[in-house]
Amino acid sequence: MAIDFGVEPEFQAQIDWIEEFVTQEIEPLDIFVADGRDVSGEPLDRAGWRAVKAHIRTLQERVKEQGLWGFHLGPELGGPGLGQVKLCLLNEILGRTRLGPTIFGCAAPDTGNMELLAHNATDEQKKKYLEPALAGELRSAYVMTEPHAGEPGEFKCSAVRDGDEWVLNGEKWFASNAVRADFLIVMAITDPDKPLLERASMFIVERNLPGVEVVRNVHTFGTPLSDNFVIDGQRGGHAYLRFNDVRLPADALLGEEGSGFVGSQTRLSGGRIHHAMRAVGTCKKALDMACERALSRRAKGERLADKQMVQAELADSYIQLKQFRLHVLYTAWLIDTTGSYTREIRKEIAAVKITAAKVNHDIVYRAIHLHGSLGMSNETALGDMWMSAPFMGVMDGSTESHKENLAKLLLREYEPCDDLFPTYHLPKLQQEAREKIGKVIEQYGAA
Ligand SMILES: Cc1cc2nc3c(=O)[nH]c(=O)nc-3n(C[C@H](O)[C@H](O)[C@H](O)COP(=O)(O)OP(=O)(O)OC[C@H]3O[C@@H](n4cnc5c(N)ncnc54)[C@H](O)[C@@H]3O)c2cc1C
Repeated sequence: MAIDFGVEPEFQAQIDWIEEFVTQEIEPLDIFVADGRDVSGEPLDRAGWRAVKAHIRTLQERVKEQGLWGFHLGPELGGPGLGQVKLCLLNEILGRTRLGPTIFGCAAPDTGNMELLAHNATDEQKKKYLEPALAGELRSAYVMTEPHAGEPGEFKCSAVRDGDEWVLNGEKWFASNAVRADFLIVMAITDPDKPLLERASMFIVERNLPGVEVVRNVHTFGTPLSDNFVIDGQRGGHAYLRFNDVRLPADALLGEEGSGFVGSQTRLSGGRIHHAMRAVGTCKKALDMACERALSRRAKGERLADKQMVQAELADSYIQLKQFRLHVLYTAWLIDTTGSYTREIRKEIAAVKITAAKVNHDIVYRAIHLHGSLGMSNETALGDMWMSAPFMGVMDGSTESHKENLAKLLLREYEPCDDLFPTYHLPKLQQEAREKIGKVIEQYGAA
């Protein structure tokens, strides 16, 4: 019997360690950092924030001692090589937290960038960028989306060869963590006349090169607009970048010239399923909160938990979460089994990416609604969790574009029927069945 939902005791011990570490260390730190005030209620000063960063480094060391740093990486890159199924079980614990991925060395966008470098970089590039990035010493950003378009066919930012150099010009949008990054991985058009999949290349661009301009550090809703104009590298954000005649050495090219769009699929496929894994954790947290609230709150003489409509909502959330989690685990198992992003796997990744947004939306909404006014207040984590639903539906490709891809991949498994009526048209099937079973009956009759 090959299907087994259990895990071996050694891995269960690692899950238990992470569970406790997250509860004891990371969840309180998340709350503290979001609040940003010290024990007397005063805003943290620079020295306070430096101490927080030092504390994060200490926690990262504890993770390294457990052999869990960069747990998404294979042994060839210094990770434990757990495989995707085990990654699901760990990522869903980290999905409850904000700082968890940073403390475990598996935060986006660095994780996807490391995968890109591992697959495409030359030995020199690996030494210069990948190795320090793996050690947590360099930070990176992935720079693909443009202000006027999120879709490769519309991109304009270009790199033109000039002697031994490339000259980069154009604008990029929503590059997460770019203001804090040491280097950027930039997608640029290198030959607009080639077929779409060969038009772009990727470049490693050091952030402090002349001509790299941060127009604004854009934040998501909930942050004051004025913060978009503060570019101090202290906080995250999604940069609006402009490249003004940035001169890159020839060896800034990452992978083959023209391989940018195809290469980016490796990065994005891995990143998409990791988002889905963490969404399992977010949804589980929302359901836990809803259940506790339902058991604790009373209305019209009984607990919310005793009301059939509330029970139905909780049951719906539970079923959606279980189905989603199993689908994510199945997709992870497929990747582990085949070891690459085949067409079948890309179809499942598109499916879980689409579901992640829907499930996140539905389960968190129900939890918020069940909490009434408290749910809409800023006194629970639900508001933050609610924001992840629209993010999930857009980042790494919109739900619609994934549905389009999924449908195309699905349809490749079928053939059109040239007949006037479809292959499953009952009159035709009845006639075939009569002929087939008729022969059997004849045989029985003859016996
Ligand atoms: C939190 C977050 C972090 C991000 N980080 C990065 C990053 O680090 N680097 C980076 O390069 N980008 C990043 N992005 C940008 C992200 O990759 C794009 O938002 C995404 O690719 C969609 O592009 P767009 O925003 O331009 O939307 P558009 O392409 O303009 O799409 C907008 C809407 O148009 C509709 N639409 C689009 N395509 C189709 C279609 N094929 N069929 C039907 N309807 C369609 C959908 O309703 C879609 O939501 C991030 C986005 C978010 C939200």
